[in-house]
Amino acid sequence: MLLPTNLKYNLKLDNNMLYKKLATLYEKLEGTSKRLEKTYYLSEFLKKTEKSDIEKIILLIQGRLFPPWDTKELGIAANLMVKTISISTGISLKKIKEEWKNTGDLGNVAQNKFSKKKQQSLFKKPLKVNKVFSNLRKLPDIEGKGAQDKKIQYISELLIQAEPLEAKYIVRTILSDLRIGIGQGTLRDAIAWAYFKEELNLKYKDGELEIDKEEREKYNDYLEKIQHAYNMTNEFSVVIKVIEKQGIKGLDDIRLRVKTPVKMMLFQKAENIDDAFETVGRPAAFEYKYDGFRIQAHKDDKEVILFTRRLEDVTRQFPEIVKYINEYVNAKSAIFDCEVVGYDPQTGNYLPFQSISQRIKRKYDVKKLSKEYPVEVNVFDILFLDGISLLKEPFKKRRELLEKTIQEKPKQIVLAKQIITGDKDEAQEFYSESLKRGEEGMMAKNLSAEYKAGSRVGYGVKVKPVMEPLDLVIVKAEYGEGKRSGWLTSYTLACRDSSTGTLLEIGKVSTGLKELKGNGVSFQQMTNLLKPLITKSSGKIVKIKPEIVIEVNYEEIQKSPTYSSGYALRFPRFSRLRQEKPLDEINSLQDIKKLYKIQRGRL
Ligand code: AMP
Repeated sequence: MLLPTNLKYNLKLDNNMLYKKLATLYEKLEGTSKRLEKTYYLSEFLKKTEKSDIEKIILLIQGRLFPPWDTKELGIAANLMVKTISISTGISLKKIKEEWKNTGDLGNVAQNKFSKKKQQSLFKKPLKVNKVFSNLRKLPDIEGKGAQDKKIQYISELLIQAEPLEAKYIVRTILSDLRIGIGQGTLRDAIAWAYFKEELNLKYKDGELEIDKEEREKYNDYLEKIQHAYNMTNEFSVVIKVIEKQGIKGLDDIRLRVKTPVKMMLFQKAENIDDAFETVGRPAAFEYKYDGFRIQAHKDDKEVILFTRRLEDVTRQFPEIVKYINEYVNAKSAIFDCEVVGYDPQTGNYLPFQSISQRIKRKYDVKKLSKEYPVEVNVFDILFLDGISLLKEPFKKRRELLEKTIQEKPKQIVLAKQIITGDKDEAQEFYSESLKRGEEGMMAKNLSAEYKAGSRVGYGVKVKPVMEPLDLVIVKAEYGEGKRSGWLTSYTLACRDSSTGTLLEIGKVSTGLKELKGNGVSFQQMTNLLKPLITKSSGKIVKIKPEIVIEVNYEEIQKSPTYSSGYALRFPRFSRLRQEKPLDEINSLQDIKKLYKIQRGRL
């Protein structure tokens, strides 16, 4: 059976559903935190959705306007939204901003402000899903002179026609912040409930799912099939279409296909080498963990398509990779999993990911950029070869096929450096070698494991050096949004220049604190500590007298022009308060420089 591939994806705009129906669903979903209840509402809604609307509705329920591989973004910043709400309601910018600060949610602000505009409803014609969808889809393509005004025009056309509840969700959709708590798991379950309720004899009563014991296994099997079909297609609407036509059996025919991106397998973290062996078995394959970005490369004869980890199509940005694959891959069709790493064209030295990250988004000057920031493709897995899926093949076999398929050409396309061993010392040596080369760490992989698309299973683990925590002081903070709007939730941190005594910013931290009281420090507690120290406010950002010292964990120190220290922390995470620490004992810029050098064996 043929499924539409990404390239054929085509949305028919013959929709007639009222947007109000969708907004009411959003409201119901937002109104409950119970997953089963959400699943129920969603499934009832899907049942009543016309076939021709499914694609759009599935996207909108996920808060999207475009399918995942489409790199188009609406590109409407919150401030432009403030302006649009102000223009559409005639209420001053200042008032809108004020309410935004208090509620932390522009959707709610829009709902409020529009409900105060009494004269409206009389002459309004009801808003259709189709209209919302098509107006919003126009936004990314508006460029050049007067673009901002045009964007405002398209949005306010909708807002003026909308009822207050509709306005709320239009605004949130535009800002990619729907807040209805629907993850892929809930959507998958809702599809099972909507299309197989009778078949599985499912009953939803008083917030509980009633299902016979014998049917439970079947139900789980159906969920797994839907999930698998989704992993292969990345599109619930495609999955639904197959179900509608052929029932659950049809899903068995959804196979991995070249040119349709498949969710990537993810890796767990291991504490150390012993822990790695424990998870992936002994012997295991060990590979360098390269510091670049992940690419899934599809080759179909002479055509090559490159997808990022988020499954966005970035083929245009990397013409040289297309060339390498065409030149050095000995296969008619194939799908590879790779890490693309940048290097300095003068010295040939590999560069950290940051220095080439701009290439992913840039669509102009591509040739020039590929000369300035060349990349090497490190291939570490193969999923498909000459018309056959390899997902179920053991990793060892896949690697062998990879070796046969790719002709290595250094600085263009190579295989991930690998050893197979059950010996801890040998693994340790390989690990040290990878760090010495400036890699991020090492991967350990189970030799007999299949490729489990879209899952973070323990078929592979990463081993990375643990950095010692830093003690830093909070110098600024920012109020949160939504239910976090009364708390200061993001904290700008500084280290100290020990030669001058000045404080230098090094990053922001907003994770590691709790929403509720209990174990660990909560946002509320931190807010209580910081509020008396506020010296200046500007919008949601406040300056803080530097007194509160905290301990922060992180994965890496990077060079960064964003902060006055010249460095930034990658994945910083609050670990504890260090109130006893005086300011002159916090970590210094000199410490940071030293740590930067020794990490990954750069010394
Ligand atoms: P992390 O992003 O820390 O979860 O680490 C997993 C990522 O490491 C993968 O998504 C790849 O982008 C990257 N990576 C680098 N080298 C390898 C390798 N040899 N095998 C698998 N993944 C790798």
